[in-house]
Amino acid sequence: MDLGISGKTALVCGASKGLGRGCAEALAGEGVHVTLVARTPDVLEATAEEIRRKTGVKVTAVACDITTPDGRAKALAACPQPDILVNNAGGPPPGDFRNWTREDWIAALDANMLTPIELIKATVDGMIARRFGRIVNITSSAVKAPIDILGLSNGARSGLTGFVAGLARKTVAHNVTINNLLPGQFETDRLMKTIGASAAAAGKSVDEAMAARRKQIPAQRFGSPAEFGAACAYLCSVHAGYMTGQNVLLDGGNYPGTF
Ligand code: NAD
Repeated sequence: MDLGISGKTALVCGASKGLGRGCAEALAGEGVHVTLVARTPDVLEATAEEIRRKTGVKVTAVACDITTPDGRAKALAACPQPDILVNNAGGPPPGDFRNWTREDWIAALDANMLTPIELIKATVDGMIARRFGRIVNITSSAVKAPIDILGLSNGARSGLTGFVAGLARKTVAHNVTINNLLPGQFETDRLMKTIGASAAAAGKSVDEAMAARRKQIPAQRFGSPAEFGAACAYLCSVHAGYMTGQNVLLDGGNYPGTF
């Protein structure tokens, strides 16, 4: 299927690795010129170079922390009026809410709620004026089925989800959609880190812990960033203009409910 977005521009956050990279690769594969944002310059540049080589699209790399005002200013200076915005940043740490300070909450809200809202604010009116826009927020399956030790994530991402639910109904008449992609367990650095930590705590090897996790997922495996990117590219396509304000779960069947 031709997604109809060749020649468009995208700002993809958290794009040097993992799910953000999967989205950037899928969009670039459809001929979208991408601006990639991540913190570590050499990792980011290596990703940018690989995407350039494979796809031939224009790839711009911006090394910054997207959760800071300065980082957002740098990203928007490089790509002021994207047709497509993929919001993504690192997830908050796990823990017990009794130990979290106000600063911990503010950091989680900054990364997983307020930064996406700031970037939407900076770009959505241009999309409306051009009568095309696609915004995808990478959130988490924890929005639908909370994970007890990830209270910072459950809370901050639910705030973003609630905000987007209202705005997405305002923009769709202008062919600007806003949707959330909810990853379950995808094989990325972040997942390896969390499995490594729980394996160490349980006195198991990482391989054992990974095998046990896979077994709990109906698909019997983790998702791949390429699968995640393909879903993102579809949401950004011309064919998805009637879909807005949705929370799309990609979890290999892990969520047990009918809806
Ligand atoms: P990852 O650690 O593999 O990659 C994260 C990417 O974001 C990297 O490119 C990193 O450089 C970049 N990044 C992180 N913080 C940033 C910041 N402040 N500014 C700019 N770039 C930043 O992580 P991932 O697994 O791809 O996860 C992406 C998001 O999805 C995270 O918020 C994570 O919590 C969430 N998530 C992931 C899974 C999973 O299974 N992988 C499940 C649920 C939710």
